[in-house]
Amino acid sequence: MPRIRTALLGLFGEAEAPLVIPPDSAGWVRARQVATYQRYSLVIVTANLMNAGLMAAVMYSSPLRWIVVTWALAITGLMLVFLYQWAKRLKQPARETRSAGSINRAVRDTAVLGAVWGALPALCFASSPPEIQTIIATVVVGMMCGAAFIMLSIPRAGFSFIGLLALGGFIGLLSDPTPLHLFLCALFVVYIATMIFSVHRTFGEFVGRLLGERLAREQTDLIGMLLRDFEQAASDWLWTTDASGRLESGAARFCPSGQPPATLLDGFEANADTYELAAMMREQDSFSHLVVRSTSHCGHSWLSLTGKPIYRNGEFCGYQGVAADITAERESADRIAHLAAHDSLTGLANRETFRATLQEMLNYTDSRREAGCLLLIDLDRFKIINDTLGHAAGDSVLIEVAKRVRGIIRTAGVVCRMGGDEFAVAINQPGGDPVLLARQIIDAIERPYPFDGAVAKCSASIGLRRVAREDDDLEILVRQADLALYRAKAQGRGHVVEFDWTMDLEAQELMLLEHDLRSAIAGEQLHLVYQPLAGASTGIIAGCEALLRWEHPRLGNIAPDRFIDLAERSGLIVPVGEWVIRSAIAAAAQIHPGIRVAINVSPMQLRSNNLCSVFVNALAANGVAAERIEVEITESVLLADTEANLAVLQQLRALGLRISMDDFGTGYSSFSYLRKFDFDKLKIDKSFIDCLGKEDSSDAIVGAIIALARVLGMRTVAEGVETGSQLAALSALGCDEAQGYLFSRPVRLDALIDMVGAAPALPAEPLVPLADGPVVDIAQQRAS
Ligand code: C2E
Ligand code: CA
Ligand code: CA
Repeated sequence: MPRIRTALLGLFGEAEAPLVIPPDSAGWVRARQVATYQRYSLVIVTANLMNAGLMAAVMYSSPLRWIVVTWALAITGLMLVFLYQWAKRLKQPARETRSAGSINRAVRDTAVLGAVWGALPALCFASSPPEIQTIIATVVVGMMCGAAFIMLSIPRAGFSFIGLLALGGFIGLLSDPTPLHLFLCALFVVYIATMIFSVHRTFGEFVGRLLGERLAREQTDLIGMLLRDFEQAASDWLWTTDASGRLESGAARFCPSGQPPATLLDGFEANADTYELAAMMREQDSFSHLVVRSTSHCGHSWLSLTGKPIYRNGEFCGYQGVAADITAERESADRIAHLAAHDSLTGLANRETFRATLQEMLNYTDSRREAGCLLLIDLDRFKIINDTLGHAAGDSVLIEVAKRVRGIIRTAGVVCRMGGDEFAVAINQPGGDPVLLARQIIDAIERPYPFDGAVAKCSASIGLRRVAREDDDLEILVRQADLALYRAKAQGRGHVVEFDWTMDLEAQELMLLEHDLRSAIAGEQLHLVYQPLAGASTGIIAGCEALLRWEHPRLGNIAPDRFIDLAERSGLIVPVGEWVIRSAIAAAAQIHPGIRVAINVSPMQLRSNNLCSVFVNALAANGVAAERIEVEITESVLLADTEANLAVLQQLRALGLRISMDDFGTGYSSFSYLRKFDFDKLKIDKSFIDCLGKEDSSDAIVGAIIALARVLGMRTVAEGVETGSQLAALSALGCDEAQGYLFSRPVRLDALIDMVGAAPALPAEPLVPLADGPVVDIAQQRAS
């Protein structure tokens, strides 16, 4: 119903087409409506003139001649105007849009034509003979059908023409209302309704098609514009080739800085990726995101190519695709990959890359495998450079070490930094003796490192492990190289040690030992012995040092030199050390109160949180005065975590304990540590005492140490005094105390109490030093 309503309304004017036309397209649609209508101009003129002429000819002999002739002349006149307008329009350019007025003008013109045509049946039908009536009826229906067809692009024009013509028809028929004419009227109504309905329908489809075309055209324009924009500005561009691979479009973008390549493949470096591309193009395969590198004269950029073959009528006629310049992404990815695989300070490969290189080496099946060798390099006392010259100096030494090692290894293998002051070399090329290479590396590292005014010195130890045919486990390889390195370090500075299987056995033995040490604490296999410290000139015992002993149920007595180190590495030193502190303080309670007790404390114990409370509790539990206890630490305490360690030392001092520096003079820059903490006592290392009286330099050094200590308000103890002449020299140099086999070996508590008296007891007797000669244990001497 609403459609018919709209259609009927359309007949008399205002209704729009049933399709909603967007306002911004209305003018354009109107221009198409008018253009389509005008395309039929000649048909309209011909049909009108022919029909008008025919009617005039047929009715020329009838009494209505003058009416018909006038009518035909009117039609002819209208057609001449129509023709004139058509000819005028031909000279004008096609219009993109039209106003509503141009539609109205077309409606007006066709309405005039319709009215003139309607006059024919209205004036002539009723008074014509039946044969003429038939002709008039046929022409009227024919004109109506023609108008419906030709004017469907402007329905209002069609409706006004058909409507006015029909009106004339009805007037003609009804002026002689015979049953036949009434029947013809009814038929007319059906025709007109059908025509209006189909015009309306077809017009809807016509507009729909127009709008669809317009949308498609707009989209094509938009795509074209985007593509142009994209090709000019973006890093991606389109390219096409012919069947022979010659570039038809996009060539210039492949080589912005030089001569564009003729074929696609010409633009790229001859490498595996380009060969792959060539192979795919030969096979007419599609490819996607294939990365190739452009040739040097085109600026060495990285391109990602996607392409697919084009076929026309089943025949291959080239490729079309997209190229993208991915140089920036590629370079940043390379940079990230480099950062992930390399050490940022030295630029050497890092630990992960090193392991990957070793694994690759283990996968070799050819002669390279036998040439494989692993060097672990550790800088000796590097920490001292950091501590004394600063971290910037430390960094530049590491950078220089890296450079020197790389200079020696060159292409023979891969040099890596494993972290801190540890480096490694994986030799993976035949030729060259690895031991010789290792020696060269040490020599190179030992050359001085000059920088602004100062000169740093450094040395290195190297553990070496050759890859054998049967090796297949990376972990074992590295662990064994590490064992060799450990052995090299134990030998002092600047040694190369090659792994041998006894080391592995020792390592296993050490593991067992570590296991045993855990149970030793609980199983009462540990005990302390005490070595007296006597006045250097008086010989009166003023104190003693507690030294740890381990009686292993199977292996017998194990020297502390062997197991203290093991305990430190495994962390067991903390519980072992606590046991020592408690036992030594308990012993102090039994010894004459005039005798001080020295306790050795390892760096790792300083790092444990409850060192102070262990001392406080032990002192309180045994009623021992804190001043009687001396804590002996070595220089290494001041090497690592200095600030934290100094804070703990201050706390210990605050408890009233005395702090001694043990093994003084063995360190790299012992004197510099004296500035860091105010020690109560310096224990001059045995190595200086051994040379006393033999080397003038030793006498001078010991003399300087004693003099310096006195200036700084510290007491001095000489360790390992074995001869009377050593004691005499020390006494002459002003050393306060002496400790050594000359007075006594370390003895059990009861023996010490025998010597110095129990608590509370009389002050200890002076101890008479033995004359030069074989060292005699006073305890033994007393016992005998
Ligand atoms: P140290 O603290 O320098 O102890 C002195 C070492 O020199 C002791 O060896 C002692 O027996 C030895 N000695 C003393 N006088 C002479 C002498 O006239 N000639 C010779 N040749 N040697 C002499 P010991 O008892 O084997 O201890 C070795 C090291 O083990 C100690 O060196 C100390 O660093 C460590 N140590 C011992 N007990 C403990 C402990 O309870 N805790 C910690 N952390 N370390 C300990
Ligand atoms: Ca000591
Ligand atoms: Ca010592």
